[in-house]
Amino acid sequence: MMLTVAQAFEHLLATVAPCELSEVPLEHSLGLCLGRDVTSPCDSPPFDKSAMDGYAVRSGDLANGSAVLRVVEVITAGRVPSRTIAAGEAAQIMTGAPLPTGADLVIKVEETQRNGDLVLIATEHGKAESNVIRRGTSVQKGDRVLSAGLTLNGSRIGALAELGQSTVLVRRRPRVAILATGDELVPVGDVPGPGQIRNSNAVMLAAQIESAGGIVISLGIARDDRDDLFTKIQQGLQSDLFVLSGGVSAGTLDLIPSLLQEAGVKEVFHKVEMKPGKPIWFGIRAPVPQTDSKICLVFGLPGNPVSSLVCCELFVRTAIRRFMGIEPATPQSISAILEHEHTTYLDRPIYHPATLVWRDQQPMVSLVKWHGSADLCGTVAANAMVLLPSKARCYQVGDRVETLLW
Ligand code: AMP
Ligand code: MG
Repeated sequence: MMLTVAQAFEHLLATVAPCELSEVPLEHSLGLCLGRDVTSPCDSPPFDKSAMDGYAVRSGDLANGSAVLRVVEVITAGRVPSRTIAAGEAAQIMTGAPLPTGADLVIKVEETQRNGDLVLIATEHGKAESNVIRRGTSVQKGDRVLSAGLTLNGSRIGALAELGQSTVLVRRRPRVAILATGDELVPVGDVPGPGQIRNSNAVMLAAQIESAGGIVISLGIARDDRDDLFTKIQQGLQSDLFVLSGGVSAGTLDLIPSLLQEAGVKEVFHKVEMKPGKPIWFGIRAPVPQTDSKICLVFGLPGNPVSSLVCCELFVRTAIRRFMGIEPATPQSISAILEHEHTTYLDRPIYHPATLVWRDQQPMVSLVKWHGSADLCGTVAANAMVLLPSKARCYQVGDRVETLLW
């Protein structure tokens, strides 16, 4: 029975589990998902400090907004004050330097005039605590700062560094093997002979998989030959995910589904009601007893380039995100405004390559001129795809359509 796209996603999410947790150096954690909550082992900032370059003074000395104070030391960032500030005294202080005891505010240098040992202050900002950041203002020891499940980006990695985490517990990236299959394929650098074409899918899928977070292992091209395929399938099954292109449709040399099953991969689904990409095959190889083999998730993508592209965007990306613990794993669509008329007749949902631009803060989308699943060059202007549900329909300018950004 053919699945709908929604059912295929359900089966996928029920089959793919988040991977085990592992510790990685903080500088290698970008894009990874935090494995457990992080509580702070310390106060941050760790000491009372100045937020400005200026003078640390006592608010009591500034009762009427002005004062002439004696400068008793200079405190730069990284130094510690050597003495307490007494009445009538000030310390010149730099941003980030510890506030000396006795002082309870900092006057910006712009509101002062220096004359030898003396500083003349005239300010309307003489209240206690001005320009001072107290210890623990940002975070206190024991506070939960980051929650499990957050994807690490610059600010979160920086915050972990501030708290002293030089390593971090995350879910790792999957290793994803890619195998292109087909007697007609030649490497991209070769000139195709009669009946031959270049293997464009492998590099395309590699780019998509890397952008989704996977680590690509390229297995080259397998011929439509049982022995060659079987050997390379065994190699591919060593990875966390294994993506094959070609050989899953109804041709006499479409050997992939039967060979995968012979290799111990259990079919989860074959064929999804969509265009392009209908013949997609998905299965799982459970760990083999008495070996060190692990679970392998296997995708047989139809060889037509745009079918491979769309199936990778929808399903392989979802599996990678799920493996890495990133939620939501499934593609998130936005409702965009169609910029032109369009008529569909098909009885299957179509994922149509499209260009989305923002105009006056509105998402405006137009379908690109495209000749179907073999027309990869027709997709190069696209940065998204529009889902046209399976009904004959005349779309009007201004209609809302479900759009998935690539
Ligand atoms: P298949 O799914 O093997 O029946 O292939 C469907 C179409 O996609 C055929 O026209 C193939 O030549 C083409 N095709 C298959 N694999 C690739 C590939 N790796 N790169 C580009 N086109 C391919
Ligand atoms: Mg083929």
